[in-house]
Amino acid sequence: MDGLDLLVRNTSEVLTVEGTHRERAEDALTPKPGAVVGVRGGRIAYVGPEAGLPAGAVGPDTEVVDALGGFVGPGFVDPHTHLVFAGERSTEFDLRNQGATYLELAKAGGGIAGTVRATRAASEDELVRLALPRAKRLLEQGVTTAEVKSGYGLNLETELKMLRAVRRLGTRTPLELVPTLLCAHAVPEEYRGNREAYVRLCIEEILPAVAKEDLARFCDVFVEDSAFTVDEARRILSAAKSLGMTPRLHADQLTACGASELAAELDAATADHLEQVTDAGLKALADANVTAVLVPTSTLFLRMRPYAPGRRIRDAGLNIALGTNVNPGSAMSENTALALGLACLENGLTAAEAYWGATRGAAVSLGMQRHGRLSEGDPADLVVFGCASYRHLPYHLGVAHARVVVKAGRIVVRQPMDGCV
Ligand SMILES: [Zn+2]
Repeated sequence: MDGLDLLVRNTSEVLTVEGTHRERAEDALTPKPGAVVGVRGGRIAYVGPEAGLPAGAVGPDTEVVDALGGFVGPGFVDPHTHLVFAGERSTEFDLRNQGATYLELAKAGGGIAGTVRATRAASEDELVRLALPRAKRLLEQGVTTAEVKSGYGLNLETELKMLRAVRRLGTRTPLELVPTLLCAHAVPEEYRGNREAYVRLCIEEILPAVAKEDLARFCDVFVEDSAFTVDEARRILSAAKSLGMTPRLHADQLTACGASELAAELDAATADHLEQVTDAGLKALADANVTAVLVPTSTLFLRMRPYAPGRRIRDAGLNIALGTNVNPGSAMSENTALALGLACLENGLTAAEAYWGATRGAAVSLGMQRHGRLSEGDPADLVVFGCASYRHLPYHLGVAHARVVVKAGRIVVRQPMDGCV
């Protein structure tokens, strides 16, 4: 064997996450107690007992990382973010917590309209510059791949600018980005009296322009009677599909409006949120093998009840993905550890199910068959944690335990290795 580029040793266990969502999550995580991980050429070259390393595996150029008894797992995959935007809404947050109504907030210039104004006014350079520290905070949590949505442009020019910013951001951060067009995030103010004209703008101009530049892999619609109706979403997402973009839907967040059924009908990759999903909606999603994306941080942030019924979703046989939904309005948090904690405390998942959702479950939802997993030949995206078990992550609420983060074989985050809890 040629020398490894990197060897991680002295682990409590390595979670290779090679199972499927159809088995018990504890088994699907496929723990390998005491294993070492070898990396070469940006890929996983070896996972197994140290004694099983072939002769010559550790050479003079091999960087050896001592995990000090911590566990190792795949880099987290965040399946739902709004990482690119301008402006911030801390005043709105404060007002809302003091009981201000949506209308009062809108009058104060808040709501999504405020972010749209700031994002339209920002240059592409500025959007990249503003998003870089957010990407860094995700990396520090151990996230190595993230989906990123547009949706604060709501016109042709700014939706394109946002997606170009996502593309450029991807060349400036080790975080691997997967772009989603979300021009149907809200009906922009200038189309309030004529929503049909905006739906047609999406279908006839924005979608084709995005497809022409190959700027998005997915297309998302916020399906809600207050945003886009099921019929409008069907038209937009069918057009997106014909242009090669796979649907993801903001579904059943505020009301059960048939969005899950639509996701199933359209063979969508995901239905996200699902706070209000019905049993019929769940059955449709399960039959169509749509991934349920849970984003409990936004349920907390909006002080909504109920949380998405994660237990019922999981028991219905769905693949679950777990994301931060980081965005300026309803979840200003890049904290994957907090999302893991809330998934257990409020969505009713076990620690193993939540961990699955943040790794392999999320990768599957993005169609990334070799991400969120540590099989030989997979991209070497991995995290060395400062704790012995994945169970510690949701339990130690909201605290990041990533100590060394590796993206494509390269160490991109290195925190002090101060022992293992
Ligand atoms: Zn969202």
